[in-house]
Amino acid sequence: MARDYYDALGVDRDASQDEVKSAYREKAREYHPDASDHENAQERFKEIQEAYEVLGDEEKREAYDQMGHDRFKQAEKQGFDPSEAGAGAGTGGGRSRGGMGGGGGLGDIFDDLFGGGFGGGGGPDAKTSVTVTLEDVYEGAEKEVTYTTTAECGTCDGTGAAEPSNARRCGTCGGSGRVEQRQRTPFGQATTVTECPDCGGSGTAYDEACGDCAGDGEVRDRVTRTVEIPAGVEDGTTLRLRDAGTEIHIEVRVEEHDIFERDGADVYYAHPVSFPQAVFGDTVTVPTLEGEVDMEVSAGTRSGETFRLSDRGIPRMQRRGRGDQYVRVEVVVPNPSDLTDEQREALSEFASAGGDEIEYDEGFLEKLKRGVFS
Ligand SMILES: [Zn+2]
Ligand SMILES: [Zn+2]
Repeated sequence: MARDYYDALGVDRDASQDEVKSAYREKAREYHPDASDHENAQERFKEIQEAYEVLGDEEKREAYDQMGHDRFKQAEKQGFDPSEAGAGAGTGGGRSRGGMGGGGGLGDIFDDLFGGGFGGGGGPDAKTSVTVTLEDVYEGAEKEVTYTTTAECGTCDGTGAAEPSNARRCGTCGGSGRVEQRQRTPFGQATTVTECPDCGGSGTAYDEACGDCAGDGEVRDRVTRTVEIPAGVEDGTTLRLRDAGTEIHIEVRVEEHDIFERDGADVYYAHPVSFPQAVFGDTVTVPTLEGEVDMEVSAGTRSGETFRLSDRGIPRMQRRGRGDQYVRVEVVVPNPSDLTDEQREALSEFASAGGDEIEYDEGFLEKLKRGVFS
């Protein structure tokens, strides 16, 4: 199979694009599986198409000339594409859908895509998801992901045959992979085209299936990789990873946090304080994603009042800086059975000293009536 593309088309290395084109036409006509009686017509036809896809495209041809046949094919398998725009001829004969090639050692290109809306046609080759904590979101993280890729079987060159050289045109469909069925209906004769039952649509027949792919022509591979989770990533974001020509979409799921609630770059947290702390004010220790910080609760703080800790939130994705942390102070009323005798006595004294009388003005009652007091 490893024939030089120039030999496959029967042209010189300095042939013009027009010469390449007319050579391709001539050869394609000669070896078209539907018309040709040549032995291995199917295989030759594939070879010719493959050759023209490269030589018929000036950019690809240039890369091919520079790299030579074997290196070019190897690079193509690993996803190298000199002209992403594609052009080329007809139905892709031997174009592989990006193999995993060896150790997958080519550095991967990682672009972050936020909130969807990525251009470019075609879906991903593989999908997976990764779950991260809010701490991961705060700092950024490296996580392992596992996905399944599909690649052309290297053992049989995608033919599915144990002996690729013995693969031949399927007799049932003549190599087209499709069969027509004519049926009489009340409205006349109807023709339906279905996938060939003998070759499963590949157009190729063989005596023994390839052991590595069970005749599929494709192999599946479970791949585990480490991906970088950018700081500030939102729940539901899709990250796109390119790995040797394979595009993997990774959905990021952010776990709910035990004590923090997130809104964009801001973090919300409720902190309990005692009645005396709320009355007299105090310095309290508050957890943040970065660790504990001191916060001043001012004297006379009401339950439900919110304090802001600037720049203690999550890094912003699109802009510089961080969000804030909001701390809602909740005044905790102690359970009477938890009070010590001393505390109980002190509270009773506080009550008899007039502490059980609440002072309020008309405005307070108005607010209560409207239910907006918090
Ligand atoms: Zn195979
Ligand atoms: Zn068939």
